[in-house]
Amino acid sequence: MERISWHQYFMAQTHLIALRSTCERLTVGATIVRDKRIIAGGYNGSVSGSAHCTDAGCYVIDNHCVRTVHAEMNAVLQCAKFGVPTDGAEIYVTHFPCLQCTKSVIQAGIKKVYYAKDYKNHPYAIELFREAGVETVHVPLDEDALALVHKLE
Ligand SMILES: [Zn+2]
Ligand SMILES: [Zn+2]
Repeated sequence: MERISWHQYFMAQTHLIALRSTCERLTVGATIVRDKRIIAGGYNGSVSGSAHCTDAGCYVIDNHCVRTVHAEMNAVLQCAKFGVPTDGAEIYVTHFPCLQCTKSVIQAGIKKVYYAKDYKNHPYAIELFREAGVETVHVPLDEDALALVHKLE
């Protein structure tokens, strides 16, 4: 039996979470991992109980949809809500984090970011990660890993 790697396991999970996104502009997922255990997941979506972009349309200001809480923030806030430490954890994301999420990820004590796709990688975000000693590693989702999922059927 072929076994999926840790990276692909967490990255596939992150893409699965992204499928719950409610913003039509971008489908993003995040998974926070500690000691090879998933401690939280998030996707970009509206504040709990508020209208979804998919129903009410995106709320666009300066070419950004402001309706959503970003995937990384949702994952970090899930930890805050339930009192789960994020210090020293790692995060898997479908897209390179935006500037705001970069700051939150650093402040949460997350030490490594694995991202599948480059996405407007902001030079200041890159600088902040470097200053904070947070390593960013490009881990594309592997088609072979997905093929293993189909094999289960
Ligand atoms: Zn939206
Ligand atoms: Zn963000």
